[in-house]
Amino acid sequence: MPDTLRQAIRDVVDFPKPGIIFKDITPILSDAKLLRRSVELLVDTVSEHQIDKVAGIDARGFIFGAPAAIALNAGFVPIRKQGKLPWETHSLSYTLEYGTNTIEVHKDAIKPGEKVLLIDDLLATGGTAAAAIELLRTLGAETVCASFLVELSFLEGRSKLALDNVQSIITF
Ligand code: AMP
Repeated sequence: MPDTLRQAIRDVVDFPKPGIIFKDITPILSDAKLLRRSVELLVDTVSEHQIDKVAGIDARGFIFGAPAAIALNAGFVPIRKQGKLPWETHSLSYTLEYGTNTIEVHKDAIKPGEKVLLIDDLLATGGTAAAAIELLRTLGAETVCASFLVELSFLEGRSKLALDNVQSIITF
């Protein structure tokens, strides 16, 4: 099945800017079997843990994170880009290749000690996921695992994550 998933991913050259090969996962989303299997595989990696919350990263992490939370009988926590969450937030800025990005989480989204699975569609340089893990730590969460549908392993993003348990379903 990971091979079928891999074949469904579409490379879009020079999107959103020149030099980037964008991994378009929408063909997986539009296929009922592939979508279901993606969520099952993302959840498989943590089945031995009792997960309290799944945290999904804005925006494609929401698509996989919410059904993963339902499958694990856990709550869902959105980690959002700056200015989108309505209530009190913790925020964290991190550097991109050009400029910075800021992500936020609601202060009451997770109780200290709760076990969290972090989900996003793709791990590239690891900057976004590392910032998300740091934000979760600010809330007192125990991030048990980070799961990604796709990992661009040549960018070595997993080395940025202060986490033993980093899983990906498809590696390029
Ligand atoms: P990074 O912080 O470099 O690991 O980037 C991860 C975030 O950017 C994820 O939320 C991805 O959805 C998105 N992203 C980065 N590179 C790509 C790519 N080549 N194709 C699709 N999404 C990407």
